[in-house]
Amino acid sequence: MDNNFCVGCPGIQQPLCAVKDIYNGITLNEVISKAKKSASKYLVCHKNAIKIENGAMVITEKCDSCGLCKISCSNQLEKEYDKKIEKPIFAELGKLNIFLSNIFSDALVATEVKTEGNFRQKRIDAVIGKENSVILIKVLANVDKYNFYHRSYEEVMKEYKNKYPELGINIVFIVPESKIKKARQLEYDVICIDEIKSIV
Ligand code: SF4
Ligand code: SF4
Repeated sequence: MDNNFCVGCPGIQQPLCAVKDIYNGITLNEVISKAKKSASKYLVCHKNAIKIENGAMVITEKCDSCGLCKISCSNQLEKEYDKKIEKPIFAELGKLNIFLSNIFSDALVATEVKTEGNFRQKRIDAVIGKENSVILIKVLANVDKYNFYHRSYEEVMKEYKNKYPELGINIVFIVPESKIKKARQLEYDVICIDEIKSIV
């Protein structure tokens, strides 16, 4: 990653490359109704490698070039990234939220989304809420768990299809690029992170 992309955000103490408001732990009903109630501030960098000095970002040697700060920069309109971004987003759902919020900036993105139905309360890793549809996202580091989570997410999908018959609901599984071949050989319906833009 070329670290020299910052052109500065004068007068802003916490630019978007450093801290982002995210929706975490809200309910699926809130995502569907676009009830933006309780955003919380979340640090972008997973290596604590960012300093803001005089309105500009300084990247320290702790950086591993994951690219999450670059995709979060308000001046980077193309939102380009490479597979190094897998590291923070498979490690923390908050970083996944920041990633998805930047890719789907016109949607309501939430993580650790609570669902209710004829089952014990479940949490969906991430939900992308569009105007008349939602996408339920599972990040799956261990592809052997695909069938288990697929059944679980399908239960949620059926429950909310009954509640909201007009709503489009899809399920997407994201696996690490190193495991996509194995998952597809097993005929699992999965994508890797560089295919994310194709899901909406
Ligand atoms: S948001 Fe972009 S331009 Fe602003 S300080 Fe951060 S990296 Fe620099
Ligand atoms: S590229 Fe990743 S590790 Fe490096 S400063 Fe940005 S967010 Fe932190």
